Amino acid sequence: MTRLLQAGGPGEPAIAEAAALLAAGGLVAFPTETVYGLGADGLNPEAVARIYAAKGRPATNPVILHVADVAQAQALVTHWPAEAQRLAERFWPGPLTLVLPAADTVPAIVRAGGPSVALRCPAHPVALALIRAVGRPLAAPSANRSQHLSPTCAAHVASSLGEAVDLILDAGPTSSGLESTILDLSVPGVRPRILRPGPIPPAELEALLGPVDLWRGAVAPGAIQAAPGMAERHYAPRAQLRLVAPGTGIRSLGGRTAYVALGALPPLPAGILGVLLPLDPEQVGIRLYALLHELDEAGFERVFMEQPPDTEAWLAVRDRLGRASAKETA
Ligand code: AMP
Ligand code: MG
Repeated sequence: MTRLLQAGGPGEPAIAEAAALLAAGGLVAFPTETVYGLGADGLNPEAVARIYAAKGRPATNPVILHVADVAQAQALVTHWPAEAQRLAERFWPGPLTLVLPAADTVPAIVRAGGPSVALRCPAHPVALALIRAVGRPLAAPSANRSQHLSPTCAAHVASSLGEAVDLILDAGPTSSGLESTILDLSVPGVRPRILRPGPIPPAELEALLGPVDLWRGAVAPGAIQAAPGMAERHYAPRAQLRLVAPGTGIRSLGGRTAYVALGALPPLPAGILGVLLPLDPEQVGIRLYALLHELDEAGFERVFMEQPPDTEAWLAVRDRLGRASAKETA
């Protein structure tokens, strides 16, 4: 059995034990406000290599470094632009990842060989206490096998990664549910670009920065370009997920089938489980992965889900649903 310890914040024996494991090159899964991360010392290439091995993550997909404050972030980049400072003051700690030109101290494996590094300061007392206790940035992609659903509680981590992780810090379900918004500021003179939509919507970034671009693949699920970390199929449940227009008549195709409705549950044929989520992007973001995990655990083979409205507020949820429902390629 994977070791699991309850954790609440700074000063606890669980944090000290986790920090010691990390300092020795081990892997510790820990909570953030978005999803659980699979943490390693971000300046130790061998430790980061263990993350890739545990997740089955392609070497072309870089990992995010988690820092406790702006000073720790500044030490990892060659240039900290004024935009980064403004964004960090407004959104850190929080679900915003900034991509910036990497300093030489950032191991190549963290950057997947590229010139930039992704940095975030998570808004979770356990994550912050752990980073401070180790005194180094923590590499921490989502604590799941590559391409699978991200974990929003400790049990999801245990079932996805099992023995591959040395310790799981458990602080209950995460509060935000979807992975951070990723903003690329790495090219001077080029407009900031959202690489992954997330809990912080474009309008909030634009209010601070002026116009930002959206990476095309992120807004057009189903027609996604190949780029590091932006694989078409990602965040996927075991069940076959199909997105349908609200109110579409569905019929049972055999096997256990669920229908996830937004706002109102339509009449359903016998034998299909109806699940009602509110027509509220934030609430769906919080619930989505946990619901798909539950349906997987319960052995559902098909999940129909109503496509959310095509508005900016639903961008992050639509992005994840597009990838979770994409056909398996390899
Ligand atoms: P996750 O594995 O869920 O934590 O996702 C991490 C995401 O951050 C992936 O989509 C990566 O491609 C992205 N990422 C990390 N580092 C960089 C970078 N230097 N440039 C662009 N994207 C990055
Ligand atoms: Mg992930």
